[in-house]
Amino acid sequence: MFEANALASIQRSVVRCRRCPELRSYAARVARERKRAHRECEYWGKPVPSFYDPRARVMIVGLAPGAHGSNRTGRPFTGDASGAFLYPALHRAGFASQPEAIDRHDGLKLHDCIITAAARCAPPKNKPTPQELRNCFPYLLEEFDALPRLRVAVALGSIAFAALSKLLRERGFAFDPGRFAHGAELAAENGRRSIVVIASYHPSRQNTNTGKLTVPMFDAIFSRANAILARDEGAGREPAARGRGSAHPSSRRGRPSSSEKR
Ligand code: SF4
Repeated sequence: MFEANALASIQRSVVRCRRCPELRSYAARVARERKRAHRECEYWGKPVPSFYDPRARVMIVGLAPGAHGSNRTGRPFTGDASGAFLYPALHRAGFASQPEAIDRHDGLKLHDCIITAAARCAPPKNKPTPQELRNCFPYLLEEFDALPRLRVAVALGSIAFAALSKLLRERGFAFDPGRFAHGAELAAENGRRSIVVIASYHPSRQNTNTGKLTVPMFDAIFSRANAILARDEGAGREPAARGRGSAHPSSRRGRPSSSEKR
């Protein structure tokens, strides 16, 4: 229960956040102007909270909301091409209740994972500045601290990989830094916890349309995450119950950049 309360409190702070005035005003302007294809939609147009199972053992870190994807729908990777590649993979791997992610009221639930980001407001050209990434980093740290069962982190792209490396350093983990490459891993320990970071190309349209990231390549990332969790269960660590609910601040009433998405 503690994790659920802590995570919900973080997401409420995220939605109210104004640390990056330019990003807030860009996200709001996109929401006002809208894309022709989504003219009938009411855009979210604010910082996008994470989507999660509070007992998550796997953290998936993207870069930032897409202007007409999660900035429109209010849920990470929902309503755009990246999500149409990510959620089917999560469903095949048992982390999502369904492959479709249409809007935040579509009934989709996550099991044993959280989807978060290095920056939580849609940036122009899908590219947050270094200062904007620094502004948003404390939320990632808070989420990490609120997830004591966390065991695996999947970095979608090199900026997410850098954010996770920074997080592990800040929390006193020892690890060989390594370089970003699809399928590369960091094994980190700090005496109390051990975390494995798995690097993946971002499921952006430009990576998936060009074949840089294929379905088998992406499935292999989540198979590896499952193998690490299964090994822990074999070693007697507590498994999380798959099938638990997910949360979104509103539903509880209810730029991956072109260059970064490698
Ligand atoms: S990007 Fe992060 S730090 Fe900046 S305004 Fe949005 S939520 Fe706040």
